[in-house]
Amino acid sequence: MLYKSTRSDAPARYTAAEVIKMGQAPDGGLFLPETIPTLSPKLVEQLRRDPYPVRAAKILSLFLTDYTYEELLEDASAAYSEASFPGGAAPLVPVKEGLYSLELWHGPTAAFKDMALQLMPRLLSRALKKTGESNTALILVATSGDTGKAALEGYRDVEGIKILVFYPSDGVSRVQKLQMSTQEGSNVGVCAIRGNFDDAQSGVKAMFGDAAMKEELTKRGFFFSSANSINWGRLAPQIVYYVSAYCDLLDRGVCKPGEPFHVTVPTGNFGNIFAAYIAKQMGIPIGRLICASNQNNILTDFLRTGVYDRNRPFHLTMSPSMDILISSNLERLLSLIAGPEKTSVYMQALRDKGVYTVEPEIRDQIGRSFLGYYADEATTARTIKALYEGAHYLCDTHSAVGFSAALDYQKETGDHTPIIVASTASPYKFATDVYTSFTGTAPSDELGALDALAARTETAIPYPLQGLADRTIRFTEIIEVDAMPEAVRRFLQ
Ligand SMILES: *Cc1c(COP(=O)(O)O)cnc(C)c1O
Repeated sequence: MLYKSTRSDAPARYTAAEVIKMGQAPDGGLFLPETIPTLSPKLVEQLRRDPYPVRAAKILSLFLTDYTYEELLEDASAAYSEASFPGGAAPLVPVKEGLYSLELWHGPTAAFKDMALQLMPRLLSRALKKTGESNTALILVATSGDTGKAALEGYRDVEGIKILVFYPSDGVSRVQKLQMSTQEGSNVGVCAIRGNFDDAQSGVKAMFGDAAMKEELTKRGFFFSSANSINWGRLAPQIVYYVSAYCDLLDRGVCKPGEPFHVTVPTGNFGNIFAAYIAKQMGIPIGRLICASNQNNILTDFLRTGVYDRNRPFHLTMSPSMDILISSNLERLLSLIAGPEKTSVYMQALRDKGVYTVEPEIRDQIGRSFLGYYADEATTARTIKALYEGAHYLCDTHSAVGFSAALDYQKETGDHTPIIVASTASPYKFATDVYTSFTGTAPSDELGALDALAARTETAIPYPLQGLADRTIRFTEIIEVDAMPEAVRRFLQ
């Protein structure tokens, strides 16, 4: 299987290893496989009996054909081990009649990015060998909190790779700061900056674009790489859990083979829901893909009108990982449906004017699979409370946006087809807002919110968030934005 750019009609010519190493296509587009493989009913029958890592290896081997099945199985077994995902990765939990939660947050940072970031670094490490790369990859990450921790956990102690994370000193929560500053691993670095997230992001981008710095790095045996969510190596592992969820629905007798179910995904970047679309194209009988947004409802508007317009106010919400106005992965869907030529025109318009409009026939075709819903802050809080009180199910602020969309859809259509909601974070990851949502009053401090939530709901704090205050702090450095390149040099010594 070879890969091509979303913006080019040229024949596919990149291997999966090259695509994972490069991240983005040279023309600025994103990589897509030349065809989408299909799952035979016989393979699905086999997958039903397989544990999660075997499901992952079998599904990924259809896309990453320059990796052997044994390599993929070794990596998936390490990524989704019992130690990292106690009780198993991606369990499907019944919430109430016809409604299921696909819990993607049982990994080492208690949020769904672990599902991809536990596996992708291992795929990258192999890609370096497969492409004959002799230098060490240096991953630089600017983070507003969650991605940095998930990347640190994923890349720690992976051969051929070092990772340095920058975060705004006053721009992350106390829990997030503790999670990062206590990070273990021999190849990791963490640095706080005096500035906001945009300063950190710009600082990293400037280094990626600095030719002199690149040359200096090469001389010292390193090259820059990114842990970006547009990398195919992050997207491919996300396809697996939608196939896995179908296997689990069959096993529970909720669906018979071939019977449809709907999927709801709280999304910002359109990555997680695009992975579900790929699973549908592979033959998994997903009916509707319900795209759930928070107050930053640019995707809801796009799916309803065909106009993608980022000229709008930006809202800070209690589901911050979805506070996004550029949904990068939407480009992949546009390329599959409208073709590379039109996609290039849309992306140019987005860069120039911040807005593009797809033709009515393209919008209709997208609308055959996708529906858009959104939840404002009050609705999100109300959903957390209602699900806990009505179904005894506790969810986080992001997942609540998804549940709200699923319930809206059911109410609006009267459709009784089973729905799976992708649950993207542990409620404890956003304990303050979750606690406030159903008590109406904020807990006095952030760490205390975890214990207060546990006491009130009789649920357990997940292992990555237990005893945070007692861990050894390894990284205390706070630097000026200008000193970021200097911090990189020190890190490499
Ligand atoms: C990153 C993230 C999302 C959004 O994921 P997309 O890739 O934008 O679909 C949703 N919830 C949580 C908790 C996240 O960390």
